[in-house]
Amino acid sequence: MDHSAKKNNKKRVAIVGGGLVGALNASFFAKRGFAVTIFESREDIRCAKVVKGRSINLALSHRGRQALKHIGIEEKIVSMGIPMHARMIHSLNGKQSPIPYGKKGQYILSVDRANLNKELLSVAEAYPNTKLNFNHKLLDWSPETGAMTFHGPDGNEKEFHADLIVGCDGAFSATRKQFLRRSRFNYSQTYIPHGYLELTIPPRNGDFAMKPNFLHIWPRHTFMMIALPNLDKTFTCTLFMPFEDFEKITTGNELLGFFQKNFPDSIPLIGVDALMRDFFRLPAQALVWVTCSPYHVLDSCVLMGDAAHAMVPFYGQGMNAGFEDCIVFNEIMDQFNEDFAAVLPEYTRVRAPDDQAMAELAMYNYVEMRSHVNSRYFLFRKFLDNT
Ligand code: FAD
Repeated sequence: MDHSAKKNNKKRVAIVGGGLVGALNASFFAKRGFAVTIFESREDIRCAKVVKGRSINLALSHRGRQALKHIGIEEKIVSMGIPMHARMIHSLNGKQSPIPYGKKGQYILSVDRANLNKELLSVAEAYPNTKLNFNHKLLDWSPETGAMTFHGPDGNEKEFHADLIVGCDGAFSATRKQFLRRSRFNYSQTYIPHGYLELTIPPRNGDFAMKPNFLHIWPRHTFMMIALPNLDKTFTCTLFMPFEDFEKITTGNELLGFFQKNFPDSIPLIGVDALMRDFFRLPAQALVWVTCSPYHVLDSCVLMGDAAHAMVPFYGQGMNAGFEDCIVFNEIMDQFNEDFAAVLPEYTRVRAPDDQAMAELAMYNYVEMRSHVNSRYFLFRKFLDNT
């Protein structure tokens, strides 16, 4: 269906949060002809000198690509990604062993988070019926009137109204706070014992220091390190480890001893000086798992992306699931002729169980990646040896 034809539909949709899911969602609504406004608390990352936030790169998979296809930028984003055909397991003795993700030719992509976010904002902005408001932080909103209060760029409070508020403001969603005041809203928030910290493997002689088309994993049972390739031929390593283990490492010598014992092959790749500098630069970041239901209030507000279902990153599906939320919502808009009173409850009914399943798989993969991939590798080798 060509939704661009629905130019006479002037209902106002406010998207709170111009992160990955909010920026994508704006294009989905703009394509349908709604008057769309994004309200993002940060400055415009396309002009910002430093982009703060979570992981530098992330894995884009099939469900995420389908959503990008819908707004016409799949090929562009894929061309700026690096295919990862397999996991590359690093043993303690430095031996590297691949485990394919799927059949021959199947792969996931390592993409730059900031670049993807910038592209999504620019696609949304290109619609004449979309407006982007940066430095607007949602403080509160009213389910009855659709009135939203923002902390604006000049430091004053500003009020806006919308027919539909779409909360895409992440794991610590301000939009969701209003849901918590309502009866029969189920909500849980769990911090896992592990935190994460990012390190960099620079290029070697102008090329990647390790094989680029893999998601490298150093599984060490109770903790692990992974590395994803970047276009500038660096790798971003992420060390996932219980906070109590991070806290035991307080000096450069302790750090070096820890890496010599657990990730010896990575030390010359990262470099001792860079390791010392980057490890102590920032504290380890927490990982939160949020579930909630319903995803909507009346016919006035709906949550999508991490605001509805922040999951641990071990299944590489948080963003991908958020992107798929947009596709599912869009299909339900077709089915119910854009009647928010019918669309919103149906969206909760259809989508919440699927997101919950993905979040549970992510928790399962939390153990799988740091521990079971080792045993799986031996099973896989045995299978290859016998065929
Ligand atoms: P966010 O990216 O959190 O964006 C929310 C936006 O809302 C932000 O721009 C924020 O500034 C804005 N905002 C917040 N509060 C307000 C407010 N009050 N008013 C206005 N704006 C507000 N997912 C994958 O699919 N693949 C991966 O490989 C992957 N790797 C990951 C690795 C790590 C270490 C982590 C932590 C996560 C990873 N994820 C991955 C998950 C992914 O990062 C999230 O699922 C994704 O960022 C969710 O997007 P979002 O737009 O819903 O939320």
